Amino acid sequence: MVIDSDSDFFKLACAVPLQDATTSGLAGHGVELLVRRDDLIDSGLSGNKAYKLFYNLRAARDAGYSRLLSFGGAYSNHLYALAIAGARYGFATLGVIRGERPAHLSPTLQDAEQAGMQLLFISRAAYQRKTFTHLLDEWRKQFGDFYVIPEGGAGVPGARGLTVMARALEAQLEGDYTAVCIACGTGTSLAGLAAGLTAVGRSDKPALGFSVLKGDGGLGTGIAETYRQLCAKHNASGDDRSHNAANWRLISGFHAGGYGKKHPAYLFDFWRTFEQETGIPLDPVYTLKMMWGIHCLAQQGYWPRGTRIVAIHSGGLQGRRGFVCP
Ligand SMILES: *Cc1c(COP(=O)(O)O)cnc(C)c1O
Repeated sequence: MVIDSDSDFFKLACAVPLQDATTSGLAGHGVELLVRRDDLIDSGLSGNKAYKLFYNLRAARDAGYSRLLSFGGAYSNHLYALAIAGARYGFATLGVIRGERPAHLSPTLQDAEQAGMQLLFISRAAYQRKTFTHLLDEWRKQFGDFYVIPEGGAGVPGARGLTVMARALEAQLEGDYTAVCIACGTGTSLAGLAAGLTAVGRSDKPALGFSVLKGDGGLGTGIAETYRQLCAKHNASGDDRSHNAANWRLISGFHAGGYGKKHPAYLFDFWRTFEQETGIPLDPVYTLKMMWGIHCLAQQGYWPRGTRIVAIHSGGLQGRRGFVCP
């Protein structure tokens, strides 16, 4: 990922392989599955987090910042990607983490630190107020000025990176698919993907987001707003397509207990079977639940026969460490 060049970024996105992963479970229902292997774009800076960082890094650099600050948990794919991006593109990075510094850092945070990220552990109570200006002011006094990237790379610049993925998909398949699926945490990636599909004239292709959160109450509101802002940018003529033709859906039934909860046995079984059949590794928090959801929906007859699904492999494989994998 070269942050100076939109066209190089687009080329990188166009080179992402689409791998056939039509399992026997899907084939039996007449459903074809292609996995877009965005987990493979780079050894460290990969998956949707690379896309979400692209325009954030660009904005930080254009505004003259040399230091980035963001937030996350001990297994955060976002902080991991940010630490690597910082090292690669010459930014100092600060990672704010909830809770006391543990005696043994998670592999994720060890790597982040090794890449040069300075880790700031703050109490859970303080973390609730993490964007309060007085906390940020304190850190600015301590470390110097920095550019703040929201937790998980959420927000419009983050989502905008995913419009590039949608453009690449258009260059690759020219609309020869039925729907695109992606796992959702904040839903930023879903909003960007859907807006990107709309921008390339594919608003007839639904972008389906599989939420990994239990009780994702306000998620849809945030997605709608991000989608609206991105579509408004693409569509300065004022014809607001975001209301009558929003091409994204949030699917909430496959969180399997919620974010970071212990997996039920049936999910482990699915994980093992899927990886054996396709050879595609999944991460435990996001892509596993999306794939499971896609398969459950096939069993329920949700996908008409002849459906061709593109599922985004949004990465996160570093998070397999510390997890009992199949
Ligand atoms: C962060 C992450 C997601 C969720 O992305 P959002 O834009 O927050 O919805 C999905 N998959 C993986 C692997 C992730 O790391």
